[in-house]
Amino acid sequence: MSAPPLHRSTVTVIGGGLAGISAALEAADMGASVTLVERKAHLGGLTWSFEHNGIEMDNGQHVFLACCSEYRRFLTRIGSERDVVGPFPLDVPVLAETAGGAVMATRLRRSNLPVPFHLAGSLLSYPHISPAERVGLGRALAGLARLRLGDPHLDQVNFFEWLRRHGQSPRAIEAVWDLITVPTVNLPASQASLAVAAQVFKTGLLSDRSACDIGWSAIPLGRLHGQRAFAALRRQGVALRTSARVRSIVKQGPTWEVVTDSETLESDAVIVAVPHDEAATLVPGDVAPARDNWRHLGSSAVVDVHLIFDRTVTVWPLMAALHSPVQWVFDRSSASGLTGAGRQPQRGGTGPQYLAVSISAADELLGQRPAAIVKEVTGALRRLLPASADAALVDSVVTKERRATFRAVPGSAVLRAQPAKAQQRLAIAGAWTDTGWPATMEGAVRSGIAAARAIAGLTPSQLPTYKFTELQPTREVA
Ligand SMILES: Cc1cc2nc3c(=O)[nH]c(=O)nc-3n(C[C@H](O)[C@H](O)[C@H](O)COP(=O)(O)OP(=O)(O)OC[C@H]3O[C@@H](n4cnc5c(N)ncnc54)[C@H](O)[C@@H]3O)c2cc1C
Repeated sequence: MSAPPLHRSTVTVIGGGLAGISAALEAADMGASVTLVERKAHLGGLTWSFEHNGIEMDNGQHVFLACCSEYRRFLTRIGSERDVVGPFPLDVPVLAETAGGAVMATRLRRSNLPVPFHLAGSLLSYPHISPAERVGLGRALAGLARLRLGDPHLDQVNFFEWLRRHGQSPRAIEAVWDLITVPTVNLPASQASLAVAAQVFKTGLLSDRSACDIGWSAIPLGRLHGQRAFAALRRQGVALRTSARVRSIVKQGPTWEVVTDSETLESDAVIVAVPHDEAATLVPGDVAPARDNWRHLGSSAVVDVHLIFDRTVTVWPLMAALHSPVQWVFDRSSASGLTGAGRQPQRGGTGPQYLAVSISAADELLGQRPAAIVKEVTGALRRLLPASADAALVDSVVTKERRATFRAVPGSAVLRAQPAKAQQRLAIAGAWTDTGWPATMEGAVRSGIAAARAIAGLTPSQLPTYKFTELQPTREVA
C-alpha cells in the first residue's frame, strides 16, 4: 500500500473558521502532521455563539441547502450531523404588508415534480406579483438553465440588468429574485454578479427538486462547529493553538516559518485560511503577486435582531417578508435553550419565543443604534404577525457582522484567490476564494479541502465529490 500523499509532511493551517478546520482535517487525513493556529479563543470563525441572560444566541442565523454536499459531509466528519434540522422540503411562508395594512401571505414551496415544475405550483399562484409577471418568471429560469457555470463572461454582468433583459419587472425582481439573492449572495440583484447568482439559482433551484431543501442548526453554532471541530481535530492528532495571532509568514529555504506573538512554527507547507484583507497582509508578495487585489473584494454586512417574546407569536420555524425591514425570521427558542432541552423547534406552543430576524446586505444598519433597529424591526414584525400584537417583548439583542461576506459584485471573480493552486507549498482557503460559490459555509469547506489537496500536489478533479442526494436528511421538522 502506498503512503498517503502528505505522509511525513508538516503543515501549518492559519485560521480556525470552517475553511481552516476543513483544511486541517483534510491534511491530517492525508497523513500530515498538522498545527492549526487561530487568533480567537474558539474555533468556528464567523459562526459563533454567546450567552445572553441564560440563553445561547448565535452571531447570526445560518442555513444550508441540501445541495451543500461538502458542508454536510463536514458536519458528519466532526460528529454534528444529528444536530441540524432538516434539510426538509422547501416550504417558507412569504408575508407582505399591503398598502391598506392587511397582510398578504403565501407559501413558497416545492412539490415532488421534477425540475423546473417543482416550483411551478408555488410561483404560478404567487400573489406578490401579477399573473403576467408569474408567467414571465419562466423566461428567466430558462435563461439561467442555459448559462454555463464557470463561464468568465458571467462575472462581467449585473444580475439585475440580466433579469431585466429576460423580461423581469423591478417588482418581480424584488418579490421573487431578491428573496433568494439577498440572503445567499448578501447583496441585492442590483449589485450582484450574474456569475454568483447563477451558481445559487442553478445549483440550489434547478439542479434537482430537492436541492433547495433547507436545514439549520438545532443547537448553538458554537457547539455545532467550534466545539465539535475542536474535538475532531484533537482526535485526528492536530495540534491546536488558539488565542494565537499569526503576525508573519516567512520562507526560509524549503521551510515555512509562521510567526505568532509567542512562537515560530516551522513546517513544509502552509494553508492560509483567514479573511481576504488579513490574507493580503500575511501572504508574501512573491507567492501571491495579486494579493493587493484581494482587498478590493470589500465586505457586506449581516445584522441579526434577536427578539424574545413572552409568548409564542408564530408557529413557523422560519418565514420571509417582502417590502419590510424584516427579511427572514427563524424560531430559535429550542436551539438556544429558551424552551427546554428538546431540540425540535416548538410548533404551536404557548411559552416564550425567541425569534432571530436575519437582515442581509445590511451595511446601512451598521451606523444605527441597536434600540432604533429593534424598534423598527419589532414594529414591522408586529404588523406582519397579528399574534405578536399583544405579546410583550421581554428582551432583545442586535448582532452586527460588518464583514460577513465579500461583495460578490461584477468583476469580483478575478479578485478571488485560487484555493486549488499552491505556490511553494502555500495554499489559500476561505469562503472568499474562488470556489464558484458565494461566501457560504459550503464554499468555506470546499476551499479548505481544495487547499489541502493543492499542497499535496493533487488536482481539484481529485477532490472527493458527493452527490447531495446520497446524503439523507438528518431530522425533519415535526
Ligand atoms: C451573520 C452571518 C450569517 C451568515 N449566514 C450564512 C448562511 O446562512 N449560510 C451560509 O452558508 N453562510 C452564511 N454565512 C457565511 C459563512 O459564515 C462564512 O462564509 C464562513 O463561515 C466563512 O468561513 P471561513 O473559514 O472562510 O472564514 P472565517 O469564518 O472568517 O474564519 C477565518 C478565521 O481566521 C482567523 N484569523 C484571522 N486572522 C488571523 C491571524 N492573523 N492569525 C490567526 N487566525 C486568524 C479568524 O479569527 C477566523 O476564525 C453567514 C455569515 C455571517 C457573518
